[in-house]
Amino acid sequence: MIYFFGRFVVILALAASLAWLSMRQWGVLAGYLVGFLVLSIPLIYSYVNLARLIKFISLDRVESLPGSSGAWDEAFSRLEKHVRTMKLQVRTIEKQHERFIEAFQASPNGIIMLDDVDQIEWCNSIAEYFFGIAIQRDAQQRINYLIRRPEFIRYLNDRLFDEPLLIEQMGPNGNLSLLVQIFPFAENRRLLLAQDVTDLRKAEAMRRDFVANVSHEMRTPLTVMMGFLETVQTLDLDQAQKDEYLGLMMTQGKRMKSLVEDLLTLANLEANSQPASMTIVPMKSIFALLKDEAMALSNGAHQLNFQCDTDHFILGEERELISAMSNLISNAIRYTPAGGAIKVIWHLNHDGLGEFIVQDTGPGISPEHLPRLTERFYRVDRSRSRETGGTGLGLAIVKHIATRHQATLQIDSKIGEGSVFRLQFPNTRISSELI
Ligand code: ADP
Repeated sequence: MIYFFGRFVVILALAASLAWLSMRQWGVLAGYLVGFLVLSIPLIYSYVNLARLIKFISLDRVESLPGSSGAWDEAFSRLEKHVRTMKLQVRTIEKQHERFIEAFQASPNGIIMLDDVDQIEWCNSIAEYFFGIAIQRDAQQRINYLIRRPEFIRYLNDRLFDEPLLIEQMGPNGNLSLLVQIFPFAENRRLLLAQDVTDLRKAEAMRRDFVANVSHEMRTPLTVMMGFLETVQTLDLDQAQKDEYLGLMMTQGKRMKSLVEDLLTLANLEANSQPASMTIVPMKSIFALLKDEAMALSNGAHQLNFQCDTDHFILGEERELISAMSNLISNAIRYTPAGGAIKVIWHLNHDGLGEFIVQDTGPGISPEHLPRLTERFYRVDRSRSRETGGTGLGLAIVKHIATRHQATLQIDSKIGEGSVFRLQFPNTRISSELI
């Protein structure tokens, strides 16, 4: 301050002395003129620097800050320091902001920020996908104009945000179930979070269906057995009649037993997500076992043909492999009417994959059923399945066992022409020698 004041005094003194000298030399007018000229020099210099400052402000680039001398240089360099610090602060805040946005974008949940009148301030791309919003177009739109479902409007108006709201049939294809909840924050602002619970809902529905199916499957034989028991208890039956009823009860008991066994097998398979072990399974001996079983089940009603074309072994769980293969053979026998032919083959196909094939000349299956055959309790012919002691779980078990062995189950069938069930094992599960 003293420095500036000193300079000011020096200029004043210089102007005064020069003016005084000129006055003495050339008269009063010359004195005033010289005084004025000397004083106008710093004024002009200040105007020039002011112009530079204005130019700098309009360019907004630290590099464009002009150099100067004296007080102006001091002012410019202090300004430069301030501008640099401020720019650094702005950049740091911008970076933090970008990181917040990136974190919100990385969230698997839909996030929408609403202002105090429920207008959208910002949302992440998952929310755009869930609700068909485009933030560029819909920013500042009221959320109830964009999510028009009555249950959501009610939820928004009631302001009871303690519980989430489930909205079904959302998303671009209307196949998503979303759990939506609003959380108030800051001054009257709200955060809307949306979680995709489609898979969870599907799993719940499957569990419900499964329990209903099991109860239904159990209830039928139980009801029949209770009926027989009542008859035996209340009526005075002779021994032959009693034997007949006991035999029928035994059939129902066996049906329940195989249902419970299949359920346990399925539960064990589902509980075990690990791949099957790599134990060497000799197909030749399995084939002999499967053939004996098939002959007993068919009881001479079908023409059976077993063909083992390779000495290769499967690497897997022997018990599971026998269960899957005998399920396919037993289906072929049960669904093919007497007189039909069943062919069972084990060979390496032209891609080197191990193939277990069961081919029958049965009724065949129409194409709309094929993708659903491996679902639990899915049956094409309900009465034929029950009549022949089917539980509706056989192909679900086969599918699980195949998956545990990285194998695939392929089904080709044509109504009236029979079916081909093919278990295809990758070459990592095939071995030509006893390791
Ligand atoms: P199930 O115990 O009823 O046989 P599966 O899961 O083994 O149950 O089979 C599901 C359904 O697929 C059967 O109910 C039947 O309708 C059909 N199916 C399976 N194998 C054959 C086959 N070889 N020929 C015709 N239909 C079949």
